[in-house]
Amino acid sequence: MPSSLSQLRVAVKDNICTSSFTTTCSSAMLSHYRSPFDATVVRLLRGAGAHVIGKANCDEFGMGSLNEHSVHGPVTNPFQAHNATDTVRDNVERRSAGGSSGGSAASVAAGMCDAALGTDTGGSVRLPASYCGVVGLKPSYGLISRWGVISFADSLDCVGVLGKSVDTVKQVFDILSVHDPRDPTAATHHLREKARIASDPCCPTADCSPSLQGLRIGVPQEYFPSELEPSIVHILRTVLRRLEAVGASLIPVNIPATQFALSAYYVIASAEASSNLARFDGVRYGFRAPAPSGVTPTKSSDVYALSRSKSFGNEVQKRILLGTYALTADAFDNYFLQAQRVRTHIKTDFNKVFRIPSVQLASPSSPEAGVDVLLHPSAIRTAPPLGGSGHEASTDDDSALGSSEYLQDVMTVPASLAGLPALSVPAGLGTDGWPVGVSVVGQWGCDDLVLRVGEAIE
Ligand code: GLN
Repeated sequence: MPSSLSQLRVAVKDNICTSSFTTTCSSAMLSHYRSPFDATVVRLLRGAGAHVIGKANCDEFGMGSLNEHSVHGPVTNPFQAHNATDTVRDNVERRSAGGSSGGSAASVAAGMCDAALGTDTGGSVRLPASYCGVVGLKPSYGLISRWGVISFADSLDCVGVLGKSVDTVKQVFDILSVHDPRDPTAATHHLREKARIASDPCCPTADCSPSLQGLRIGVPQEYFPSELEPSIVHILRTVLRRLEAVGASLIPVNIPATQFALSAYYVIASAEASSNLARFDGVRYGFRAPAPSGVTPTKSSDVYALSRSKSFGNEVQKRILLGTYALTADAFDNYFLQAQRVRTHIKTDFNKVFRIPSVQLASPSSPEAGVDVLLHPSAIRTAPPLGGSGHEASTDDDSALGSSEYLQDVMTVPASLAGLPALSVPAGLGTDGWPVGVSVVGQWGCDDLVLRVGEAIE
């Protein structure tokens, strides 16, 4: 094994199994769970010489955008405290670190580690990266093994990497991006090689030259919703101008199905979660609630109901109910099937704009005048204040909407539904002095190109 990560201190999100620490998923359901094995990603990290220094707080089972749904309590964004001068240190604002990989992003931002692993199902690496001012990569679906990662929504879950610089993230990604025969959804050697060949001729920076001469950057017009803070648009424009100055061309593009992505994501993710979390029944896995005094639970369904009601938090219970409903015979066609149709539209929309063809399709076609990557804001706002799941007191309806927890994912879920690589890179500070991230999205398997464009932005 190479020891290319030797001395790198890495924190691991608490839904990734480690034999040397508990793996709680930030849930009372698993508060004492210790895995007998390391997840493949942890084994690879250790094999490459990295020090796994501890587990990072997260939203319960990865469900959330603000890291407020955790049995361990919320994660406070360390950005201001870490960068504050002594005079303002006493006065730092308590803002969210983002979720669900809030502990991973916060530990990197606070300098407690060099890199961290998170998971990204609909934005949980990119959103905290943006809020905390660090780099966060959600790789192409299937490139990094999910074996030993506690499933939230398998068809979307990806292990992602957070770090202070694109270079550190790339070093970790290079170690983790290998085929794992234990993960049935892992991309095969053949598919990886096809993607490498497909992206090569279109990759103007393949020679590692800092110039982006010839790179075609698409700017998706649907990624500027009314809730987007104006200072974020300004920062994105500055980044685009900088990339143009070093040879890239900017092309407005459309991903029309974006408007339906958030609703489709929450139906699909909840449906899969309702099925995945069924195993935590207090019988085979997880916390078993003691019977109330004087009552003997007679049926295993009593144990099941009592254990789950007592140990799953509100957000998780809400998703299980929503997901179970979406999968019932009565609702299936209107909800789950419709959401899957939207997912197909989104994939088609992306394939229509990339000039690098998708190696996942049997007969791919791609527009000659397509783009190599897309660039858009990572989030609609800077980190929201902690407390109240983003619904902080506001008299202005629009800004209350902009703070709602689910809306925070509006920029990140389309790439998740399409399984594409997406990298959030810090690009400046908003008018409130908190970090703003921009995201680079590429065709499936073009993670290296996405990282190279990210390097040009930082
Ligand atoms: N915020 C999204 C959700 O709550 C995404 C979470 C994630 O990527 N794990 O489902």
